[in-house]
Amino acid sequence: MVELSIELGSVLLLAFGLKGLAKIRTARSANGLAALALGLAVVGLLLQQGLGGWPWMLLGLGIGGGLGAVLALRVAMTSMPETVALFNGCGGMSSLLVAIGAVQLPTPLNLVGQVSVLVSVLVGSITFSGSLVAMGKLQEWLGTPGWTLRPQRHVVNILMAVACLACCVLVLKGMAVALIPLTVLSLLLGVGLTLPVGGADMPVVISLLNSYSGVAAAAAGFVVGSELLIVAGAMVGAAGLILTQVMCTAMNRSLTSVLFGGALGAGTSEASEAGGREEYTNVTSCSPEECALTLEAAERVIFVPGYGLAVAQAQHSLKELARLLEQHGIEVRYAIHPVAGRMPGHMNVLLAEADVPYDQLVEMDDINPDFPRTDVVIVLGANDVVNPRAKSDPSSPLYGMPVLEVDQARSVFVVKRSLGSGYAGIRNDLFELPQTSMVFGDAKQVLQSLLQELRSLGVGKVPAGAGSTR
Ligand code: NDP
Repeated sequence: MVELSIELGSVLLLAFGLKGLAKIRTARSANGLAALALGLAVVGLLLQQGLGGWPWMLLGLGIGGGLGAVLALRVAMTSMPETVALFNGCGGMSSLLVAIGAVQLPTPLNLVGQVSVLVSVLVGSITFSGSLVAMGKLQEWLGTPGWTLRPQRHVVNILMAVACLACCVLVLKGMAVALIPLTVLSLLLGVGLTLPVGGADMPVVISLLNSYSGVAAAAAGFVVGSELLIVAGAMVGAAGLILTQVMCTAMNRSLTSVLFGGALGAGTSEASEAGGREEYTNVTSCSPEECALTLEAAERVIFVPGYGLAVAQAQHSLKELARLLEQHGIEVRYAIHPVAGRMPGHMNVLLAEADVPYDQLVEMDDINPDFPRTDVVIVLGANDVVNPRAKSDPSSPLYGMPVLEVDQARSVFVVKRSLGSGYAGIRNDLFELPQTSMVFGDAKQVLQSLLQELRSLGVGKVPAGAGSTR
C-alpha cells in the first residue's frame, strides 16, 4: 500500500514537473519536482523489492547518481545537446538491459511481455547507438563519411529493419536466441540512421531519440510490470515527439528531410558554399564607443541574444549592461527566438543563469510588432534568427522560418567576430542595411567595452527615479 502511494505520488509529481517546464518562471522548480519524483520512484522500488535487492540497487544508485552529478556540474551550457544525447543513450541502454534481464528469469512471459521485450530491445538499442553517434558528431569526434550519404544507404537501412522484424517473429515463435541478432542489428540500425544526419541537425534528432528512449522505457515498464515506468516512459515519449515537431516547425524543416538527409542536408551545404562565395559590398562597422553614444541617447533598447552569446559566455556582462541602461531610464527587453542557440530554450536558460528578470524576456511573436518603435537593437551573436532573407528569398534554406524583425528598428548593432555565416550557412542581408552597423569582436569583450564607454559617459550615475541625464 505504501509503495503504491509512493508510486502514485511520483507519477503526479512527474506530471506537474513536466507541465511546469512549459513556462520560464516555473521551469527551475519544475525540474526540481521531476527530480524529486524520480527519487521517490527509487525509494518506492527499494521498498517493493525488500531488503534482498537493496545492496545492488544502492550500488547502482551511487554509481549512476554520482556520475550524473559530476557530469551535470561540469558540463558547459553549450555542450548541453551532447549531454542530453548521452542521457538518452543511457535511457535506451537501461531499457535494453531490463528486457534482456527479464528473458533470463525462469517465469515465462505472456504475449504482452514478449512483445514488450521486443520493443524494448529494438527501440532501446536504436536509441543507445543512435544517441552515442549523435553525441560523437556534436563533439566532432565523428564526421559524416561520404558513403553514408549515398542513396543506397536507405536500402541498407530498410534491409536491416526487415531483418529486425524477422528476428522479432522468430522470438515470438519460441526462438529466444534470435534476440542476439535482433540486438546487434538494432544497434547497427541506430548507427545507420544517425550517422548520415548533419551535425547541425542533431538537436532535432536528439529530441526524437529522447522520444524513443521514452517508448523503450514504457515497453520496459510492461516487461517488469511497473506502472510508474509505463507512465513516465509514455510522458517522455510524447513530450519528445511534441518537442521534435515544435523544433521542425520553428526551423521550417520537415522531419523527413532531417532524418533522411534530403532537402536539408543538401540545401545546407550548398547554402554554406554560396554564403561563403557571396561577398558583402556595403557593410558599415563601428567601434563600441560609437555604439555606446547611440545607446546613451536611446529610450527603448532590445537585445537579441543568439548562439554566439552562449559561446562567449557573455550573459553576465549583458545583464550588467542592461542594468546600467535601466538606471539611465532606458527601457530594456530581450527578444527570444524559439530556435536561437543550439537547443530549445537555450537563450532562456542562459539569461536565467544571469538572473535576467523573466518579464523582460519576450517571445518572438510578442516582440516583433515593437521593433518599429525601438531606438536601438543590439544583436549579440545571433545571425539566422534575424536574417531578413527568411522572408524575402524563396530560394533560401531559411525561407519561411519566422524571424525577429530587427530590420524594422531605427538602429541595429550586430555584435559578432566576423561577417561569417551562422548555422544555416547563408549570407545575412541585415548586415548591409543602412540602419545596421557591425561591431566586430567577441560578444563578451564588446559588452565589456560598452560598459566602460557608458560609464565614462556618466551613464548609471543617476539614481533610479531621479530622471535621466538626457
Ligand atoms: P547562428 O548559428 O545563426 O549564428 C551564430 C553567430 O554567432 C555566428 O554567425 C557567429 O559569427 C557568432 N558568434 C560565434 N561565436 C561568437 C562570439 N564568441 N562572440 C560573438 N559572436 C559569436 O545563431 P542563431 O542563434 O541566430 O540561430 C540559431 C540557428 O541554429 C538557427 O538557424 C536554428 O535553426 C539552428 N538550430 C537551433 C536549434 C535550437 O533548438 N535552438 C537546434 C538546431 C539548430 P562569427 O563567427 O562571425 O562570430
